[in-house]
Amino acid sequence: MNKMLLIILKKPLTGLLKDRMLLIKEREDLYSYYQKILNTGLTNGTSGNISIINKIEKLIAISPSGVRFDELRLDDISIVDLNGQLIEGLKPSSELQMHLMVYNNRSDIEAIIHAHTIYATTVACLGEDLPAINYMIAVAGGKNVRCANYATFGTMDLAKNVLKALKGRKAALLANHGLIAGAENIQNAVYIAEQIEYISELYVKAKSIGDPIILSDEEMEKMVELFKNYGQVYK
Ligand SMILES: [Zn+2]
Repeated sequence: MNKMLLIILKKPLTGLLKDRMLLIKEREDLYSYYQKILNTGLTNGTSGNISIINKIEKLIAISPSGVRFDELRLDDISIVDLNGQLIEGLKPSSELQMHLMVYNNRSDIEAIIHAHTIYATTVACLGEDLPAINYMIAVAGGKNVRCANYATFGTMDLAKNVLKALKGRKAALLANHGLIAGAENIQNAVYIAEQIEYISELYVKAKSIGDPIILSDEEMEKMVELFKNYGQVYK
């Protein structure tokens, strides 16, 4: 195939085809945030996935399974209903069950990012909760970020473990696997994921030279209250 034509085909679609697709805004947001998390190193290749729910349409846009970002087109993005039935696009991410479980049980979450970031996953390999070594952990809604018990990727068991770990929180570690963050929009979900990855890096580095000091529950209660208003960077 002509090289120029190939480049054009790999660009996001515009025009007629685009007008006929469901959830155009969610697809475009998903596409641009996928690009952002690749550029900031939150993910690489095909690891990790993003989804955004449209509560009025009762449909979810989710990244497709096994498609590299540099090959992703807007019409590839999977559109599923709340039961996971594919409505448009390619086969959805293998972690679809986890995304559905969160949307079906958490009315406060409308966008989710799941990634295999190096430092959060390092902490998750210890099976430990991430403690409050930095006050910014409050962006995830509490004094720590819990680690969900291990279960095979893509399973209902993993989805249940993650939902439990997310109780009262907007982020969780997945034992021996990665990180999940959810929020009322994709900007905040990515922001929370970035902060939790940063705090995980601090934790790993602090532990490598000593015993990190954990902020008190009392201090963290104050922080959580402050971040209820202050921590929502994008509305
Ligand atoms: Zn994963």
